[in-house]
Amino acid sequence: MSLIVQKFGGSSVKNAERIRHVAEIIERTYQAGNDVIVVLSAQGDTTDDLIERAQEINPRPSNREMDMLLSVGEQISISLCAMELERRGLRCVSLAGWQAGVQTSAVYGEARIKRIDAERIQSELDQRRIVLVAGFQGIDRTGNITTLGRGGSDTSAVALAATFHASLCQIFTDVDGVYTTDPRLVPNAKKLSEITYDEMLELASQGAQVLHNRSVELAKKFHVNLQVVSSLEDKPGTTIKEVTKVEKTNIAGVVKDSSIARIALVGLQNNPGVAFQVFDLLSKGNINVDVILQSIGRENTKDITFTVHKKDVDQAVELLDEHKTALKFDHINTDEHIGKVSIVGMGLMSNCGVAARMFEALYEAGINIQMINTSEIRVSVLLDEADVDKAVRAIHAKFFDET
Ligand code: ASP
Ligand code: MG
Repeated sequence: MSLIVQKFGGSSVKNAERIRHVAEIIERTYQAGNDVIVVLSAQGDTTDDLIERAQEINPRPSNREMDMLLSVGEQISISLCAMELERRGLRCVSLAGWQAGVQTSAVYGEARIKRIDAERIQSELDQRRIVLVAGFQGIDRTGNITTLGRGGSDTSAVALAATFHASLCQIFTDVDGVYTTDPRLVPNAKKLSEITYDEMLELASQGAQVLHNRSVELAKKFHVNLQVVSSLEDKPGTTIKEVTKVEKTNIAGVVKDSSIARIALVGLQNNPGVAFQVFDLLSKGNINVDVILQSIGRENTKDITFTVHKKDVDQAVELLDEHKTALKFDHINTDEHIGKVSIVGMGLMSNCGVAARMFEALYEAGINIQMINTSEIRVSVLLDEADVDKAVRAIHAKFFDET
């Protein structure tokens, strides 16, 4: 007998009809003789609605109370789904994160799973119960409820799959797999039958909405057999694994991110330690920095330009301004109307012509590149926000229509 973890996203459980459908998938898996752990997200827009309700009461609620509130969404899903399984005469039990033994760090709103105490879930599985676990939540050392960050249910599922050595972890969504780019933007985007953990991780961190990036990190670390499949149609999805069969000469996908902003510190002194001071300050303020560019020094000054998430701009500027005397810069520039487009693929490692093709596509489309940033298997460009969609289409056409 094998153990399968099945995770269903918010749209897959948004109403009674969809819950019935999900229950059918679970029942089929269970009746085939498998042990089943189910992880659910909050129904539909529940999490957003809860955030709105909090805002009506207090525009700056504490992170602790936010986690207390948001954890409710997933508990609604698991109890309702368990009721449907009961109605079908199946043995099952729903468990909140803390009941399921999901131990996390003590960072509200962005907690990390540290370990899962297997005892409770194991004893339920031993009694042939289907175990439904609330995704996105856990409990910290002192017994407070924590959440894992938006989209975190994927990570709950993969962590459970790793802990219980599941033979398969299926992430059910309303798309039927991972595509070469967003099919809503490029209708002839192709579905990938498989993709490596590294490629998926880059896509997820560069803006692809399919999987929580931490879930892919965990899957890679613990060799979890991970699949993205449709909850609507019964057809093969995308498998995420260490090595894919085909030697890729092409890229795996094109992805965009419009949630970034650019900050430029102009007229910094051209001395050792300046970059350290700037980014140490930002990191202590918990502000994540992505692309960094430093200009060539002139007349003993230099500029440092970098990107942050749009939500962090005000805080970053405030922080830098507060330390203006110590950092000795002339002024700060910000631009919130930028976006990032990236290509990702193992093929980039061995083929330097790939980046050139991307730039060629942008040149032909008349799009100006503001900054470039690369990793082993990724090339990202920063563009005017208005050019982002056009850039994705041009690059996708270059790599997938011309081959
Ligand atoms: N319900 C949470 C969210 O909307 C977690 C999740 O769906 O994975 O972000
Ligand atoms: Mg999600």
